Amino acid sequence: MPELPEVENLRRYLIAEHVPGQVISSVDVAWARTIKLPSIEDFVLDMPGRRVVDINRRAKYLDVALDKGHLVLHMGMTGSLRVSSPGDERMRFAHTVFHLADGRRIELNDPRKWASVWLVDKLEDALPEIGPEPLDTSFTADEFVRRVSKRRSPIKAVLLDQAVIAGVGNIYADEALLRAGIAPSRRAHRIAEHRLAALLEEIRISLARAINYIGENPLDDGRPFVVDAFDERMQILRKPGSDCPQCGRALRTKVIGGRTAYYCGECQS
Ligand SMILES: [Zn+2]
Repeated sequence: MPELPEVENLRRYLIAEHVPGQVISSVDVAWARTIKLPSIEDFVLDMPGRRVVDINRRAKYLDVALDKGHLVLHMGMTGSLRVSSPGDERMRFAHTVFHLADGRRIELNDPRKWASVWLVDKLEDALPEIGPEPLDTSFTADEFVRRVSKRRSPIKAVLLDQAVIAGVGNIYADEALLRAGIAPSRRAHRIAEHRLAALLEEIRISLARAINYIGENPLDDGRPFVVDAFDERMQILRKPGSDCPQCGRALRTKVIGGRTAYYCGECQS
């Protein structure tokens, strides 16, 4: 599933492909439910002629800023984007295709059809309530402590709450908790403030590492790959019988907040 590091690399990929400055001349939509706003009819009519001004990211959402409004994309479980040349064969699951005035296409390839697309006046019209960006340096440890320390839920569940902090995701929450030595089931309000401050730093390190190695290892056509749970570059190998990268003991698993947490019974408390 594309997480924040993949979406950040998608943003960089589109910029490297010089998508900003391009005019979207038309759009094909083969799976209408991908389009969340406006109606499919209005989307297809309103999209042509708009020029891409910039490409930003908010949590796991790509924000394509247009000369008029915002095109917002969420990759869902299996979505990815490719900038295709006129001669390229269309990707098999490219249910939504944006044609650019220079002849290229941005293909939203989405085998499971869980990606979402919005065309809105303001970015906020497409997004749920989302907390601060973990990599935003103006997001301080004090602010993180303030947001987290009153919560009585397990810290892992708090980290997955997008309203508290944006886009950490299951894999990176586990990595950061291991590195910070905090058990995922520990109630947030029982964790000392200095440990929470250290946790924010570990979240940043885990996300930044992944952004870097995804960026350094593009697919053959230049697109970012999607990290899978068994990638040896991840600090936690998410499969039964894998060991703690710090002490070598077997990792344990526990479902917290509806997601499986991998953790070490020795290194985390
Ligand atoms: Zn350990």
